[in-house]
Amino acid sequence: MTSTLVAVAVLVATLVFQMAVSAALLQAGLRLAQASKPKFKAAVATIVAVWLFNLVVLALAAGLMLVAPPNPSIQVLVGIGAWGTLLVLSLRILSSRHQTSYKQAFVALLAIQFAALPVWLLAAGVVRPFLFEAFSVPANSMTPTIRGDHLQEKCPACGGTLIISSYSAKSDSDLGICNDCLQTAEVPIQDRTVHGGDRILVSKLFKPLRWDLIVFRYPEEPTVPYVKRLVGLPGETLSIHEGSVWVQDQELTKPANLSGLTYVGTFDRTQEDIWGPVTLAADESFVLGDFSARSKDSRLWNVGAPGHPPYAVPDSHLIGVVTHIYWPPSRWRIFR
Ligand SMILES: [Zn+2]
Repeated sequence: MTSTLVAVAVLVATLVFQMAVSAALLQAGLRLAQASKPKFKAAVATIVAVWLFNLVVLALAAGLMLVAPPNPSIQVLVGIGAWGTLLVLSLRILSSRHQTSYKQAFVALLAIQFAALPVWLLAAGVVRPFLFEAFSVPANSMTPTIRGDHLQEKCPACGGTLIISSYSAKSDSDLGICNDCLQTAEVPIQDRTVHGGDRILVSKLFKPLRWDLIVFRYPEEPTVPYVKRLVGLPGETLSIHEGSVWVQDQELTKPANLSGLTYVGTFDRTQEDIWGPVTLAADESFVLGDFSARSKDSRLWNVGAPGHPPYAVPDSHLIGVVTHIYWPPSRWRIFR
């Protein structure tokens, strides 16, 4: 819950900052256009009015895009229409509220656009490195907890929703994992509709705990962010067998919502299902995907970060702890 409050506070603070900068730029723009300079309060009210009208026009345009046939030229037309309406409406609001000509209003409107720069600096310099960062998830190794682009079929075990990677859309059948009972099953692909992946919010403020979902730089290719579940902590000796993770020969108890999950040690069914043991250094963690049979995680990496074994995520690679799924709205979740 705290993370939600902090995220909302950051969003509101960013909006207030943008509003204040925009109002100051509006004052400067009107002065530049040799119109009379409004009081700061009046400038703020104008910015709010422009934003509200923008919101209404954009919502209408988004609604139109949803009902219109998925045709690129129609989308372009709606886009140009929305943009033109926004321009005319904004000029009208500016000129009527501050008694200016359209030319003067246009200069002021141009000036307001420069607010994007300080807002971008705030986001890139403060919010992203120290508070929150958003990611979209393309792959399904953390399914069903966090989903990438996927297909949905019926789970043969419980009748719930089986999630299958969208890469399987052209196959006859594939392995999926159930959203409801967490068991895996190979089923024929009948519905080839691709459902979009989740968008997640990651906090830089939390210390990661065991079973947290974390985002980190992939050791084999550090420019690529990965999301996995933190399972092994620094200093621990761990192995995987009998469907569970074992630390110092003690079976780890999974959180209640993961109790149906089976961790496999190897994808090769002809071999004994065992992985490890390995011992993590004081600055290394071990991560696993929830869709264990289809996850490329600590068990399977071949190249380690410099100075580390292939299975380890060094502390220096940690980006943050996943706090929310924020999009699509039907998938809203709070993790921490
Ligand atoms: Zn099921």
